[in-house]
Amino acid sequence: MYPITPSISVNEPNPQAAIQTLSVVVPIYNEVDSIPHLVESIATILRSYQINYEIICVDDGSKDGSTEVLTNLAKNRDDLKAVILRRNYGQTPAMAAGFNYATGQVIVTLDGDLQNDPNDIPLLLAKLEEGYDLVSGWRKNRQDDRVKRLLPSKIANWIIGKVTGVKLHDYGCSLKAYRAELVADMNLYGELHRFLPALAFIEGAKITEIPVNHHARRFGQSKYGLGRTIRVIMDLFTVFFMKKFLTRPMHIFG
Ligand code: UDP
Ligand code: MG
Repeated sequence: MYPITPSISVNEPNPQAAIQTLSVVVPIYNEVDSIPHLVESIATILRSYQINYEIICVDDGSKDGSTEVLTNLAKNRDDLKAVILRRNYGQTPAMAAGFNYATGQVIVTLDGDLQNDPNDIPLLLAKLEEGYDLVSGWRKNRQDDRVKRLLPSKIANWIIGKVTGVKLHDYGCSLKAYRAELVADMNLYGELHRFLPALAFIEGAKITEIPVNHHARRFGQSKYGLGRTIRVIMDLFTVFFMKKFLTRPMHIFG
């Protein structure tokens, strides 16, 4: 069973110097109505936190006008980079594209639909400064459909915890903070973004989680249904083999 305390810690943290520079990476697929609110609310929080930040919105082949809205916003704002992908690649590749453009010491990821709360970003950063390499959000009061989303996710989190040995309550929460070097040379595809904590753990990272806010979608629709759970489980096999055989691939035949 999971511990009752809100945060689990894997490896012991060493307190670190204050974070100077931050990149916030947001994958966007058909979120036209959310974009202006999202960018403004991230900027408001980070200005008051007095950190050097950039917001990198990756347009993942949107067809609802998000591309134009983002491009125009980025023309008028110094704190926003718009990365426009040629077609819809999926959330994980969109995030990976954002990581390629990130220049901050730390990367925070969150969804572009206002379901994650930018007010939580300073809490994640404070936790990183305690000496963690990765802080994962835990949507303790998740505002999604109980049967279609919460139940499959609970089962998936349990299985992922068992297989990877990193027991987080909420692998699927996009709101996470990473030290940039952790993701610099990770090759992400499929649904692997949710396994970053497990992949980072294989690399010896110090990992923890904190409860974060979660809001119901205000605009647009979720891009996912039950099919994603299957894809997540398939990618879990990838992580399992990485964990076991990354440093001794031929042993798989032994
Ligand atoms: N997203 C994306 N490419 C896709 C599907 C989704 O960039 O092919 C983005 C989407 O715009 C959102 C985030 O990934 O910012 C999470 O998607 P969604 O909110 O639909 O997932 P849910 O919150 O329902 O799990
Ligand atoms: Mg969402």
